[in-house]
Amino acid sequence: MTTRRALVVGNWKMHGSHKANADLLEQILGARPFVADVAVCVPFPYLSECAVALASSDVHWGAQDCSAHDAGAYTGEVSAAMLQEFGCRYAIVGHSERRAQHGESDPVVADKAAAALAKGITPIVCVGETLAQRDAGETADVVKRQLSAVIHTLGHCCGEVVVAYEPVWAIGTGRTATPQQAQEVHALLRAQLRAATSRVDAMRILYGGSVKPDNARELFSQPDIDGGLVGGASLKAADFVAIIRAAS
Ligand code: PEP
Repeated sequence: MTTRRALVVGNWKMHGSHKANADLLEQILGARPFVADVAVCVPFPYLSECAVALASSDVHWGAQDCSAHDAGAYTGEVSAAMLQEFGCRYAIVGHSERRAQHGESDPVVADKAAAALAKGITPIVCVGETLAQRDAGETADVVKRQLSAVIHTLGHCCGEVVVAYEPVWAIGTGRTATPQQAQEVHALLRAQLRAATSRVDAMRILYGGSVKPDNARELFSQPDIDGGLVGGASLKAADFVAIIRAAS
């Protein structure tokens, strides 16, 4: 069995300022070394300062979205080639907030993942069901449909992505999936990936949704949970560092 190195990614969402970012990054850097891989996905305007602050460290940085297009008349969008110029290691694609607020469909999310990969950026592909879908017993169908679009578009290259299972009802709500609920979905996703790529045992499937220092260790100890995508708690250095340590 392959041992996967855990990955903990902070999703800053639309938070930050020059001063707050500098303080946060300084505290994260000061807490090293980490056993887990670590990254922060920050608002586009802050990529440049993150690149400077983190350049000589093993903490990576990335974006929270990426255009499906290479270039052109797409006002407000940012291409994978641009992210590459800023040294991004990762790009989150298909976050539920973008699916819900910007109408991103499964094929669009898959195209974004392909655009990122084409520029050597690892897409963190988010999947997850709403509360209504969970209550209707549709969780497996929903996450499988979301992932299958990515598998269909990327083919065997789907082994290069990071998947994040983020139940929508757990994001920013303080309500976390139980470790058993999360593991059940992660195992499903891994089984689906197994049919598509021989790299499946090396692939990281992160859990996201109100991960906190006091629930992280139990979540990350599940066999198919390889770390976390962390929103709110990634803005507090002490909490983020505690979560990183829980993944080690
Ligand atoms: C997220 O934004 O991806 C997320 C999981 O947020 P939170 O940790 O705040 O629930």
